[in-house]
Amino acid sequence: MPKPFPLMVLTPEREFYSGSAVYVGVNTIAGSIGVLADHVPMVSALDVGTLVIEPDEGTRRTAFHSEGFIEVRPDGVYILAQACEWPEEIDEKRALEAEERAKERISHPDEELNLTTMAHSKVALMRAMTRRRIKSMSTTDTK
Ligand code: ATP
Repeated sequence: MPKPFPLMVLTPEREFYSGSAVYVGVNTIAGSIGVLADHVPMVSALDVGTLVIEPDEGTRRTAFHSEGFIEVRPDGVYILAQACEWPEEIDEKRALEAEERAKERISHPDEELNLTTMAHSKVALMRAMTRRRIKSMSTTDTK
């Protein structure tokens, strides 16, 4: 039996998840990581990606996460992200429109577009594409 640990996932708007888990996975700027109980303490910056939570053995839920941080502490795992959404919360049309806007900005940069705004457009594109990918995957998936 995998050992449970306390998991808290917070966004500026809400407590996305608060409870026990046996596994959590996220995409950090250095690649994807999976955390089990008794993981070595660490802090890492989050990229845009897929949040995988296993509340208990045999149950797996997948969600979208935006940029932020993960902190693994001896007393639990803390995830702070700009945004998190379960697949059923993702508005597909909004993501498609955001994707189109970002692609348009990237392919037709106007004179005022500098490197920072280009980088913002690329991250916005990643958010939109990742939301659409997670939406198209199954919702409450069990192993
Ligand atoms: P948009 O340009 O459509 O606002 P965005 O990627 O800039 O997209 P975020 O800054 O990541 O949006 O999120 C702002 C808020 O809107 C958050 O609360 C986030 O959960 C929500 N949100 C953004 N896009 C969607 C979506 N497609 N479906 C559901 N909620 C979304």
